[in-house]
Amino acid sequence: MSEIQRITLSLPLRMGQVNCYLLRFGEEFALIDCGSKNRRRELTQTLAAAGAAEGKLKAILLTHGDFDHTGNAAHLRRQFGVQIGMAEADLLMATEGEMFTNRKQPHFLVRKLVPLLFGFGKGERFQPDFLVSDGESLAGYGLPLRVVSLPGHSKGSVGYLTDDGALFSGDLLENVKGVGLSTIMDDLAEADISLERLRQLPVEKIYPGHGQPFAASSLP
Ligand SMILES: [Zn+2]
Repeated sequence: MSEIQRITLSLPLRMGQVNCYLLRFGEEFALIDCGSKNRRRELTQTLAAAGAAEGKLKAILLTHGDFDHTGNAAHLRRQFGVQIGMAEADLLMATEGEMFTNRKQPHFLVRKLVPLLFGFGKGERFQPDFLVSDGESLAGYGLPLRVVSLPGHSKGSVGYLTDDGALFSGDLLENVKGVGLSTIMDDLAEADISLERLRQLPVEKIYPGHGQPFAASSLP
């Protein structure tokens, strides 16, 4: 059984808000996603207030490689020595700032502009410390979580499932103006398959990347 603290951070340029989730397992913590750079101080203050400091914060688990979810990973590793885990298919987003790796390619100007808009510069790039893959248990890292591959929003999108049915879905799902698939979807057919997979899993409550957590029974 884990305690879950939702941390909601504003995005730059009025692009809305993003969720991070601080999970407490006894004396230790894991952070699922870590927001974008513009709210770095707010995030680190919230972590400090919760007691998730150096040595206590064990891992940052990324649901995917987008900058609104990964923008403080490199910084938090420098500050706390925390390990970063993510799926391999989104790796170039983290290491090269290539948000459109493995995705449909927009105009090259858009590709160059998006990292700038999110403040994802060279200092924000990082190599994860470990890669996660579908079905994997993270017990070896001291985390009672299981990885569920949920492609659709990006190829390397994953969810993290607790023993008691809490699923951190990243941007497969959102609940900003109602529960549904994320409005920004790279591959809708894959997203539908991911949604079907979720229905087969023992999920009670879903904690999305954007918007309010919701009961799994209200899935579309
Ligand atoms: Zn997002």
